[in-house]
Amino acid sequence: MHILDILKPGKPTVSFEFFPPKTAEAQHALYDTIRELEKIHPNFVSVTYGAGGSTRELTHDLVLRLKTTTTLDPVPHLTCVGHTREEITAILERYAAAGVSNILALRGDPPRDKPDYNHAGDTFPQAVDLVRFVKSFSGHPDPRGFGIGVAGFPEGHPATPNRLLEMDYLKAKVDAGADYICTQLFFDNHDFYDFRERCALAGIHVPIIAGIMPVTSQSSMRRMAELAGGARFPGRLLKALQRAGDSSEAFRQIGLHYATEQCADLLNQGVAGIHLYTLNQSTATREICQRLGIL
Ligand SMILES: Cc1cc2nc3c(=O)[nH]c(=O)nc-3n(C[C@H](O)[C@H](O)[C@H](O)COP(=O)(O)OP(=O)(O)OC[C@H]3O[C@@H](n4cnc5c(N)ncnc54)[C@H](O)[C@@H]3O)c2cc1C
Repeated sequence: MHILDILKPGKPTVSFEFFPPKTAEAQHALYDTIRELEKIHPNFVSVTYGAGGSTRELTHDLVLRLKTTTTLDPVPHLTCVGHTREEITAILERYAAAGVSNILALRGDPPRDKPDYNHAGDTFPQAVDLVRFVKSFSGHPDPRGFGIGVAGFPEGHPATPNRLLEMDYLKAKVDAGADYICTQLFFDNHDFYDFRERCALAGIHVPIIAGIMPVTSQSSMRRMAELAGGARFPGRLLKALQRAGDSSEAFRQIGLHYATEQCADLLNQGVAGIHLYTLNQSTATREICQRLGIL
């Protein structure tokens, strides 16, 4: 369903994010997760695109499998890093033919082996260029074309320390045709509310979906710090986690409680949607939804 038909004022969405697994074993585990999470009837699920386009086929295969074998509505992530115009066109054509309605358009992380990658040499150097291109794509059966999402960073993107300029860049993505913003994960709702306020002041009026990832173990916390470079772990969260001592179950419960409180507060404050980063596991996501009464 086109994202404009999904996002309705006063009706917050619930969505989940998966990444394409690389081994047969991980694939089986993900399909178990998907079957579990399907029961919650999320408004959509998104599928990441590996750094530097490294999962192009895997992302495509997972999106198609979701589309054809489940009731879920998949939103593929698409990044510009290293892609030509022809390659992006071919990807869009395949998704359009499969009835995929929406795309999350991103610049993308550099390939893992090229941390100093120069985006300026790409056909689409910034996400705004990809948004413009997806918007101009005329091969979609929906006359509105693909619904388009873009990334937002409540704590700021590490590559742009100038927070005023950053809002200009975000506004450019919306002006180029983005229908909604999905945020990077964050742990302090004040950062989200402040971001939302700054968006409104900058003239950005599309719905903003909040990205939430529960801390469930020491290793998941390390993974988050890597995934979301610069993410701030508030003292209140760290203090609570410290009280868990050596108990991994207490750690998990505290993390789930914190994420549930974060979501409940966001819902009370009229958030457009909650997007849960699942790390391809169902338990934490299911428990949070249960505690929120979403199940
Ligand atoms: C919800 C979400 C999902 C993500 N999914 C993926 C994924 O699946 N695969 C993946 O590889 N990465 C993913 N990422 C990470 C993302 O690709 C990186 O953080 C990337 O560095 C920024 O992408 P962007 O789309 O925000 O890029 P852009 O909007 O292009 O911004 C990139 C940087 O350039 C700056 N900038 C923007 N426009 C200009 C301009 N005109 N001139 C100068 N500077 C400019 C921005 O301020 C920012 O610092 C995701 C991030 C989020 C928040």
